[in-house]
Order: sequence, then structure tokens, then C-alpha cells
Amino acid sequence: MRAQTCGATGVAVQVLGSGGPELQDKRASTSYLVWDRGRARAMVDAGGGSALRFGESEAKWSDLDVFLFSHFHVDHSGDFPALVFSSWFGDRRRPLPVYGPPGNQYMPSTTEFVRDLFGDPHGAWRYLSEMVEPHPEGTYELQPHDVEAGATWPMLAFHNDNMAVFAVRVVHGAFPALAWRVEMGGKRIVFSGDTNGEGDGLTKLAMNADLFIAHNAVPEDATGLERRLHMPPSVIGVTAGNAHVKQLVLSHRMLRTLGKEEETQTQIKLHYAGPVAFANDLDCFPVE
Ligand SMILES: [Zn+2]
Repeated sequence: MRAQTCGATGVAVQVLGSGGPELQDKRASTSYLVWDRGRARAMVDAGGGSALRFGESEAKWSDLDVFLFSHFHVDHSGDFPALVFSSWFGDRRRPLPVYGPPGNQYMPSTTEFVRDLFGDPHGAWRYLSEMVEPHPEGTYELQPHDVEAGATWPMLAFHNDNMAVFAVRVVHGAFPALAWRVEMGGKRIVFSGDTNGEGDGLTKLAMNADLFIAHNAVPEDATGLERRLHMPPSVIGVTAGNAHVKQLVLSHRMLRTLGKEEETQTQIKLHYAGPVAFANDLDCFPVE
């Protein structure tokens, strides 16, 4: 029998990947689906393992209205070509808009990333160049966009009849990165992506969110590079508290935070009084 679809009757977020880059955590790397009334409408990131989880979720690629990248570290983007090749055998015919950050010396822009994968003549998988260039026998087209969002105020990046999608630039070391807010069915869902929490753009983006998904990549005592890249629990708690979010889900769990859930929760509760959950792969969080 088919499993109950996540978000069959309303809006819900399904965690396809609750882990970070490490494979020993036995979790897929970062990826999320936003469901509305039985259809997966938006997808955020596609880290390694998420393609298999996508199949297990029973989502349909042809239902997606938009794909959002937080940034292009492998644990957020590595399974994107696998998902695209899978969809080549599916029934999608309409273009798929793909939004993500601009590039710099360390990372491609979103348009470059898609071209580096599928573009002719230099793309790694140029045999799929029909995905990026008009082609008479093409199945559908990927339409990448570089989102030049600021760090202080959310920017509308995409909207249609089902949703509005806002982005704010966040600090993730030297890597261009975005946090995303998806507004659907009257609900606000915010994805921190990877960030060290510097600045208050993420708080503005998350203001009054019905669901805030934050990345629990480092423990409270993190220093050095770890801390320049990621938010410790106290910063997650302060952000969730200041933004008055209704529900907090912790994902992007890593070997250095797994097993420390109690102290993580304690740190967060000093600043945020709402419900906190730790995500596992394929967990479905209905947005009430
Ligand atoms: Zn990451």
C-alpha cells in the first residue's frame, strides 16, 4: 500500500535529507520538499542521497513549480543531476525555474552551475544539453536565475498562483548563500540554509514564520572555521525567539551535533519558548 503522502490535506515540509556532508551519519545530505494538498510544489537543495529520498517520498518532479538552492556546497547540490536525469524519464514538459545565489571566486553562480552540469560543449553531462537549450525533442527546460538578494531585507525572487518565495543573503564563510522563505496556502516556511547567523536579515526573513528550519551543524562550543560557517544552538535560539517563529525544526545534523540533542535544546530554550524538533530523513512536518 502506498504510504500516506506528506501534506495530503494542507501545507507541510518533508525533510528528504537531514544530514550534512558526512555519510557515516546514515542520513541524506540537505534537501526539503514543500507540499501543498498532496503535491510537492517547491524543493530546496539536493544534497547527496536526496535523489533516492525523493523517490521514496513519492513526490512527482512534474508537480514542482520551483527549485531553490541555498548554496553550492556538495552536501546541498550533489544529487541535482541525478534528479534531473531521473526526470528525463518522467512526464514533466513545462520549464522548471531554478533559483539560487550569485557566484564568486569560490562558487559558481546558479546559472553557471546549471551550465557547468548540462551546457554544451563544456558541461560534465552535456548529453543532457537539451535541459538548458531549446531543442525540438527536448523534454523540458531548466531555467536558472541568480538571485541578487541583499543581506538586510528579504527580496521577492519568485511567485505564481500557488506561492511567493523570498530570499535574503546570509553569511556562510566566504561562500555566497541564501536563506529562503516560501509562502504557500497562507503559511510561512523559512529555511536558514547554512549560515553563521551574522546580521539580522535571517531574523527579518523568519519573522512570524509558521515553521523555521535551521541547521544544527555545530555544537555550542564551536570555534574557528566551524563557527565562521555555522550557527551554534544559542544563535538559532535567539533568531527563532526574535522572529517569534511558531515551530522550529533542526536539520543538517552532523556527527559533531548528533548525541548532543539535550544540550542543544537547553541552549535554544534559553531564548525560544516554542516547540523544537530534530529532523530525520523523510520526516513530514505539517504546518498548522
Ligand atoms: Zn551544508
